Amino acid sequence: MRRKLAAGNWKMNGTRAALLELQAVISAHADPSVNILICPPATLLREAAILAEGSAISIGGQDCHAEVSGAHTGDISAAMLADAGASHVILGHSERRENHEESSDLVRAKARAAHAANLIAVICMGESLAEREAANTLDIIAGQLASSIPDATNAGNTVIAYEPIWAIGTGLTPTVEQIDEVHDFIRQSLIARFGPEIGDGIPLLYGGSVKPGNAAEIFATDNVDGALVGGASLKQSDFSPIINALE
Ligand code: PGA
Repeated sequence: MRRKLAAGNWKMNGTRAALLELQAVISAHADPSVNILICPPATLLREAAILAEGSAISIGGQDCHAEVSGAHTGDISAAMLADAGASHVILGHSERRENHEESSDLVRAKARAAHAANLIAVICMGESLAEREAANTLDIIAGQLASSIPDATNAGNTVIAYEPIWAIGTGLTPTVEQIDEVHDFIRQSLIARFGPEIGDGIPLLYGGSVKPGNAAEIFATDNVDGALVGGASLKQSDFSPIINALE
């Protein structure tokens, strides 16, 4: 049985005052039946981890470098995230693929580094609007799966988030049939590559404009094990109903 996961990606939002929202999530979900993850900006990671200690909420980073240490100004290694109290790290988000020209090969190298640091890699993939309109979605996903996911992936160290680029921050969402089609394709691809035990065990999240108003419908899809939530994870009053819809 795959345990469900509600993951919040704060992106480049939040100063220390935002930790009050984390505190509110911790208080509102003392004994959840699903996993809850919040990925604050790196500046808040340590304080967030201290706040969340002993609670049901996990804390994650939003990116890491592929190397353990060295001359990489501004970068953070997976080992540093783990040392700060993170259990997860988001990798290959479309904003990093786009804004930082991250290739799938680089995402895979980062995922290897995350695994080596005992972090759970939340690996993101998804098609652009042009790719969907050209009916290339499944080809794009196949390529991202093949190149972004390391061979040493297993059901315990990896989560995959399907995030259509055109749905992120836009208020647009695919139909549940479209989500189901892609998630089913990812599931079958994982089973073909890793075998039924691992392939069936890796949680698949949907991400892109998940809100309190559409979460229940999205979560009713068989192959959806949770959500990676951006904007609606910033406020406890928005994030809690999404968590509740998953429970
Ligand atoms: P959004 O972002 O929920 O604000 O659309 C999702 C994401 O980028 O993970």
